[in-house]
Amino acid sequence: MKCDTLMIHYGELSTKGENKRAFIRELAKNIRHALKDFPTLEITYDRDHTYVKLHDEPVEEVLPRLQGVSGIQRISLVYQSPKDWDILKDNALSLLLQEQGKTFKVRARRADKTYPIHSMEMMQKLGEYLLEHSNFTVDVHQPDVVLNVEIRQDAAYLYAHSYPGAGGYPLGMNGKAMMMLSGGIDSPVAAYLLLRRGIRIEALHFAAPPYTSDAVLDKLKDILAQLNVYQSDIRLNIVPFTKLQLAIYQNVDEPYCITIMRRMMYRIADRVAKSHHCLALASGESVGQVASQTLDSMIAINAVTNYPVLRPLAVSDKVETIELAKKIGTYDISIRPYEDCCTIFKPKKPKTKPKIEDCERYEKRFDYESLIDECVKNISVIIMEDGVATQYDHDDWLDRNAEEEK
Ligand code: ATP
Ligand code: MG
Repeated sequence: MKCDTLMIHYGELSTKGENKRAFIRELAKNIRHALKDFPTLEITYDRDHTYVKLHDEPVEEVLPRLQGVSGIQRISLVYQSPKDWDILKDNALSLLLQEQGKTFKVRARRADKTYPIHSMEMMQKLGEYLLEHSNFTVDVHQPDVVLNVEIRQDAAYLYAHSYPGAGGYPLGMNGKAMMMLSGGIDSPVAAYLLLRRGIRIEALHFAAPPYTSDAVLDKLKDILAQLNVYQSDIRLNIVPFTKLQLAIYQNVDEPYCITIMRRMMYRIADRVAKSHHCLALASGESVGQVASQTLDSMIAINAVTNYPVLRPLAVSDKVETIELAKKIGTYDISIRPYEDCCTIFKPKKPKTKPKIEDCERYEKRFDYESLIDECVKNISVIIMEDGVATQYDHDDWLDRNAEEEK
């Protein structure tokens, strides 16, 4: 007996009405995309589950693709059985006999309310039958095998194995954010949390050559390749930041340099986000982690943008963040040595409680607007698609866009 269908349980089940329909539609689209290398799979969906029927496709290849799709709570490997009670209970027995272990319990759900046997009764009757015809005993607390029966309109679904999904919302349901991506541990994790929430991302990186090297770009590409599991195409915008950064260090007193630098980063992010139709800015900041991440600093930095700034790690512990970075495969990439523009120009005593008025006073000392224009004008772009990078300098990128708009 072969379980040949993957039954997908939706995440965020509290979603109702039109939202729920949009959720299911968007998820189905993302599932199709994630499984595009397997054109022979049959994918169907209803309001409770999506089903992926396997023919010869190996489950160990299909399953990880599904586990990368946000909006999926759980995936069960199921056997589709006729609902006729005598057939169903024999199929349940065959399924149990395929399993290793000594103890079992039955869990039943009757989604088809016209089915004559109620769930409690089903659990009891099936339990007795399985007990009688196998060497398994019942253990309701810590069974080796949980045999699930779900009675639906079209059939009964039997399964003993479920696998965790990414949870959250389907990608694309919640718009797009401009994610500020450094080469560190935090920002890739923050990006993952946005993706899981159904928010598409575009990445923005501030590079300060020759103070920072091109090695950081390889790092970012590797990080984005990991994130491609969740969003198959990600645009990385690389901002040449050196000139503006040097101007800051020439004109601003040292303790305020980081705050002003971050205000400039946010101004640039704001500009790019607007022209790329983003609905939010995002960063890997965590309250209190360093001087520029105190709440006072955040007030001073936030004042330059009207966008909501999403900081998924705002209150998370570094230890938790590292765990998550390991889980999504970005940790080993992030810890490779690199120079970030923030660390190179690090002042000895950064201001932890900067004042907006003081920031504005320093900013009056130089024509930062034209330097920002120059940064934005010279952005280069890398598109990461399914782990493959294509690089564009600014003019190539404009040409490509013009081509697409034709
Ligand atoms: P990370 O591990 O993500 O680098 P961090 O703990 O090193 O974070 P900072 O370097 O202070 O903290 O940066 C805080 C946030 O600012 C980063 O998470 C990222 O969102 C953004 N950021 C910092 N440097 C850059 C950069 N060079 N390009 C783009 N964003 C950056
Ligand atoms: Mg950093």
